[in-house]
Amino acid sequence: MKNIAIIGGGAGGLITSSKLSKDLQDELKRGKISIEVFDKKHEQEFQPGYLEVAFRGEKPEKIRRSVSSLIAPGVTHVNSDCKKVDLDNRMIETENGKKWGFDYLIISTGSSPDYDQIPGLRKANMDFHTNAAKSSLIYNRISNINSGKIVVGIGGLPYKCPPSPNESAFMLDEFFTRKKIRDKIDITYVTPFTRVYSAEAINKMIEPLYKDRNIESITAFTTDSVDPDKKELISLEGETLKYDQLFLTPPHKTADFIHGTEMADEDGWIKTDKKNLHITKYDNAFAIGDTTNIPISKAGVEAHLEGVVVANNIASEIAGTAEKYEFTGRTQCSMVTGYHQATFVIGTYDTPVQEIPPSTKNFMEKKVMEMIYWSSLRGNYEWLFKYHFKNDYFAVGS
Ligand SMILES: Cc1cc2nc3c(=O)[nH]c(=O)nc-3n(C[C@H](O)[C@H](O)[C@H](O)COP(=O)(O)OP(=O)(O)OC[C@H]3O[C@@H](n4cnc5c(N)ncnc54)[C@H](O)[C@@H]3O)c2cc1C
Repeated sequence: MKNIAIIGGGAGGLITSSKLSKDLQDELKRGKISIEVFDKKHEQEFQPGYLEVAFRGEKPEKIRRSVSSLIAPGVTHVNSDCKKVDLDNRMIETENGKKWGFDYLIISTGSSPDYDQIPGLRKANMDFHTNAAKSSLIYNRISNINSGKIVVGIGGLPYKCPPSPNESAFMLDEFFTRKKIRDKIDITYVTPFTRVYSAEAINKMIEPLYKDRNIESITAFTTDSVDPDKKELISLEGETLKYDQLFLTPPHKTADFIHGTEMADEDGWIKTDKKNLHITKYDNAFAIGDTTNIPISKAGVEAHLEGVVVANNIASEIAGTAEKYEFTGRTQCSMVTGYHQATFVIGTYDTPVQEIPPSTKNFMEKKVMEMIYWSSLRGNYEWLFKYHFKNDYFAVGS
């Protein structure tokens, strides 16, 4: 009997468990393996939908699903968070002090806003990176203002979904334009990078849009602290910026049980081999998604493709069947640029981000991905992923 433990039942954890359940269905039926997903949440949220909730007034319940509807056949949802992992003794400890052994471990516990890194930010800011309920507070706020200065942008690094702060600027512009009060609203975008998007191929396309839409950008602005009483952002570079409303994307952190352990780097991210996704030094333990220290975007697409690679490799080891895969670093994050247009940030470890002009066709493609999202976590669209990504998300490894 082999136990496969997956910590985190979000984008990465669920597809990994679904693929394992499909690839190892005979072993599951014969009781040769068990697959457990540890996560306290009863419901999952489609995180890219936080932008729709915050800036278009989408209802939070529209982007939620019960975990029970997402768990694949034969997979057990353990309704408890992990508190400790002992990789040497192959043991997980959950909230109630209960211990669980494992033969294989996959950690996919994501990332979340870390307000403690920037003094004053928690009190001053409203963000669309925490949950749908908080995102809907932003929509209430923007629906009730008729003038003033809104500051959006990157509050610190790293954070999930690199294009999301830019998307917030474009979506605010569209919202106030449609409300016919755009001329009374000042939208300012701040970023620690020296251009409005870090990758030049994307920057080249969106910087002119900022100018056309009268979105001011302040580059090389590293937010150091916020004064909520004076409504001011203070940068490391010594600048001060006034705001009326602040919707910054905060820097992110990993789950608490990872920090300060042998598997974590100095910032708390899990030291992970970028190709085989092993946690450094452990052949039976893997990390995927936002929680790794792999220097690529923290995005659901990565979590998904990495999960497929890891599930394939574990299944091939247990069943002695398929070839092993290596992850190629394939990314594909959409960036909504407003007015039913979007571009994509696409690249791999070996190919730089490409220039893809914003278009309605891209926007439609993004919408199709949204429509199939929940079903794709059950592993129902791997054929489409393989067709779409032309198999360039993995290479056959050793
Ligand atoms: C506004 C916004 C827009 C986005 N847009 C896009 C986009 O267009 N394209 C894209 O690809 N990605 C996008 N993303 C990013 C994407 O949602 C995440 O990168 C993705 O969900 C990461 O998957 P994950 O499995 O690593 O983590 P998650 O999906 O966040 O799942 C982590 C899970 O781990 C659980 N967990 C945490 N700690 C513990 C613990 N101690 N024990 C057990 N369980 C635990 C959590 O409850 C959670 O269910 C966006 C995100 C945001 C916020």
